Amino acid sequence: MFVFITGASSGIGEALARQYAAQGATIGLVGRRQQMLDALAASLPGTHHCYALDVRDRDALHRAAADFQAACGRVDLVIANAGISVGTLTEEMEDFDGFKTVIDTNLVAMVATFEPFIAGMKARRAGQLVGIASVAGIRGLPGAGAYSASKAAVIAYCESVRNELIHYGIRVSTVAPGYIRTPLTAHNPYTMPFLMEPDVFAEKAARAIARGTRYTVIPWQMGVVARLLRLLPAVV
Ligand code: NDP
Repeated sequence: MFVFITGASSGIGEALARQYAAQGATIGLVGRRQQMLDALAASLPGTHHCYALDVRDRDALHRAAADFQAACGRVDLVIANAGISVGTLTEEMEDFDGFKTVIDTNLVAMVATFEPFIAGMKARRAGQLVGIASVAGIRGLPGAGAYSASKAAVIAYCESVRNELIHYGIRVSTVAPGYIRTPLTAHNPYTMPFLMEPDVFAEKAARAIARGTRYTVIPWQMGVVARLLRLLPAVV
């Protein structure tokens, strides 16, 4: 299996890379931090390809996609996971550039990530594109207008492309995580009690992706249950 994952240098993307590498996949690892990607690739079973780039650079993404497709012969799964959040209040909107950066990273870059793989998948009548959304895209989070809007758009875009590409044998899915313990949430006291470990999330996400489900929510309540289940052997 050949899998291309953006935002693989940390958190959810790293956990997904570990999950698929453990299943024997060859992975294209994308992120800006070369050292993190190299260290991850070295720690995974198998041989992998690292692409240190900014996902907002469409040309760089396309070059990486072409290299990965040439090296592997085909790509089975593309996961557009790279994402950021900045606080955005509606009235002041001091950080208007920040707002646009969130939309560019979370939404526009996802479109550019899928783009170069579609022709190859159409030709083979097989393949899957996955957008990592968020529960914030279903129910907007206060103070995170750009983030919530970007994730709602991820869900709508994936739904639209799914309906388009289903006729070519390509599946498009969205996974919406609740709160996962990553650098994105690490310093947020609000999410702290609800955090799911990234490896637990990656296992659940990989199962949902394999089913080809249109849309999967992995809510924060599951994080609490998963933590209780991990504690259980120590109690009984
Ligand atoms: P992290 O901050 O741990 O990881 C974000 C990843 O995205 C990093 O690998 C980072 O790599 C990459 N990235 C960010 N901006 C760029 C860019 N411009 N170019 C290339 N890579 C970029 O966060 P998470 O793992 O938590 O987040 C992963 C995804 O999951 C995001 O889309 C996020 O919105 C989503 N999500 C997370 C939740 C959570 O609770 N953690 C909940 C719901 C959704 P680098 O810095 O090396 O470029």
